[in-house]
Amino acid sequence: MRFSEVIGQQSVKERLRASIRENRVAHTQLFLGPEGAGAFPLAIAFAQYLNCTHKQDGDSCGTCPSCVKYQKFAHPDLHFIFPTTTNEKVKKHPASELFQEEWLDFVQKKEGYITESEWYEKLGVGNKQGAIYARDANEIVRLIGFKPYEAAYKVVVIFQAEKLNASASNKLLKSFEEPPGHTLLILVAERYELIIPTVRSRAQLVKIPKLKDEAVMDALQKKFSTELTPEKMAEIAATSQGNWNLALQLTEETDDSKYNFLKFREWMRLCFRGNDYLSLHSLIQELSRLGREKQKRFLKYGLQVMHNSLLVNGGQNIATVAGADEKDYLRKFAPFVNEANRKAMYALLNEAVYHVERNAHPGILFADLSFKLSALMRLGKQQK
Ligand SMILES: [Zn+2]
Repeated sequence: MRFSEVIGQQSVKERLRASIRENRVAHTQLFLGPEGAGAFPLAIAFAQYLNCTHKQDGDSCGTCPSCVKYQKFAHPDLHFIFPTTTNEKVKKHPASELFQEEWLDFVQKKEGYITESEWYEKLGVGNKQGAIYARDANEIVRLIGFKPYEAAYKVVVIFQAEKLNASASNKLLKSFEEPPGHTLLILVAERYELIIPTVRSRAQLVKIPKLKDEAVMDALQKKFSTELTPEKMAEIAATSQGNWNLALQLTEETDDSKYNFLKFREWMRLCFRGNDYLSLHSLIQELSRLGREKQKRFLKYGLQVMHNSLLVNGGQNIATVAGADEKDYLRKFAPFVNEANRKAMYALLNEAVYHVERNAHPGILFADLSFKLSALMRLGKQQK
């Protein structure tokens, strides 16, 4: 990553540039900042700049042999250590070394803006907490024992340094204190108080503040100008609390709500008609491919439609619905949700959310749901 690809943080970038310009790069540094502020991308941009052979205008060139590899987070002198835990693939003795492929894919897809919980999601371990173990510490000691392969500096980035367990920390104290001259160790962390004191006292602190709203707004404009209105982007920037990961999540939810409305309407129409199997089959396939989180939001949207239908039937206002076409749809759909079927429809959708969370086969789940909902819609029609 180049500094220009890192959102905002101008004064941190300037401080990092100055440390190189003035030849006072500390060998062990702690990049400390809240989630979504960019501590990890800043660490990468700093290391890339340090190793770039054609630095220009205070940034790395992005095109020299070193930069080309750094841009992909894959340089033979760039190493990553991060929390791990057992999962489907690694059933015992987890260590960073065993997850390099997953890690690289993760960091590339997230363009450097990574969070600990997203990493666990990638590992498929839900909320299970990981750690950085003594064997990871041994690996760090081994790595920095070698001279750089081709770059000026061998760089080791330790993501979530809070997760260094006690024995790992102890093994690393000497390395943190006096790493070999060709080494840069960057610890990335969110919570200072959770890092073992003997570790944090050995690292030079680089404090990274949360992003300013304007910086989030700028980044949203660069990425979503064709998809989101300026008003929506301003709203997201204001509610993101300076957290780019949260801002991205909010844009996805915005995308979702329109999608959910259109697809739910289509789904219910196909269930109701009950004779266009081909279209229903292709919609089921599409829903099956959405991914677990989106499927959950889609089903929860369905629950919301059920709830709103009851409000419409009771002659009440539905304030939560934004679009006119959505209101119009609800007015037409609501009469079919009535005494004959409402409880069963609620229960079905709720149960589906439960099963999606537990990795049910999505194709079977949506097919089964479609047939049951079709039957219930017919009951509702008779009652209407
Ligand atoms: Zn370069």
